[in-house]
Amino acid sequence: MNIKFYPFQLQLRHTFTISRESHDIQPSLIVGLEEDEITGYGEATANTYYGVTVENMMQKIDSQRAILENYVWQTPEQFEALLQQVFPNDPFIRCALDIAANDLYAKKLGKPLYEVFGLSIDKPLPLTNYTIGIDTIDKMIAKMEEVPWPIYKIKLGTERDIQIVSALRQRTNAIFRVDANCAWSVQQTIAYAKELKSLGVEFIEQPLPAEQIESMSEVYEQSALPLAADESCRTEDDVVRCASRFHIINIKLVKCGGLTPARRMIAQARQLGMQVMMGCMTESSVGISAIGHVLPMLDYVDMDGALLLANDPADGVSIENGKAIYPNRHGLGVELK
Ligand code: MG
Repeated sequence: MNIKFYPFQLQLRHTFTISRESHDIQPSLIVGLEEDEITGYGEATANTYYGVTVENMMQKIDSQRAILENYVWQTPEQFEALLQQVFPNDPFIRCALDIAANDLYAKKLGKPLYEVFGLSIDKPLPLTNYTIGIDTIDKMIAKMEEVPWPIYKIKLGTERDIQIVSALRQRTNAIFRVDANCAWSVQQTIAYAKELKSLGVEFIEQPLPAEQIESMSEVYEQSALPLAADESCRTEDDVVRCASRFHIINIKLVKCGGLTPARRMIAQARQLGMQVMMGCMTESSVGISAIGHVLPMLDYVDMDGALLLANDPADGVSIENGKAIYPNRHGLGVELK
């Protein structure tokens, strides 16, 4: 097996702002795992919050290249177990390589990956939201109206959060979700939940800072809206701590280390009575397609990352008006342009 790197600078159509940062360019690493002239693709984006760059991902993979390339595996689960040993503290790297291994495996079996997972796409699947980053209220309205959509996720964490949602609500009947990205306090969240419920908001994502997970018990008791864990639910170990503190976990493939651990997290969340969402980063159609192949296992999905790009370097599972459209190809169904 050979490992190949395809580093990209993804360009955003609009500057994207959340409560802690803004960006126009998103560096991303697409990896290829090539064997018998078949290549499986995976992706992990760089991330300042988690201290990950494309350069350090490539350096670390290079430093373990021989072990990875010479390892003989039968199933993606076996390869993922090796990744856990080799990169115990690098979920972004594990994510890119695990997705690529799943793609390669399904391509060798001659099936789309969802079929390898025993899933069917012949049923109504969750629609993805379209994310509106923080901006002036006028610009947020303009961004929303530029892309008519059934569900919007509104990024909050400003001095005018309720005004933003009220202003957007006057322009559409679409479903709203809000994501505070850790910017609120306990009291603020409880108060906002009531108001946001009356504005037709479906749930609140990550109101408190990730480390204040203990305080979420109080919010959980009193919130008028369901609560979703994002920054508080990074890895498999976090799932159990989210029970009775959040109603929903938002799994992200880069945070947990790929599709293999994500599928274990989904099973665990179900056992604990929580709903499951999968979220994306600002990423290409490689990472987005990986989400598409577990979509039948999810209650909610945020897989609009590639829609926000001006230069998506890949084709794969695409999105039309919130609905995932699957290419008629094996594996992830991804092709690099
Ligand atoms: Mg989030």
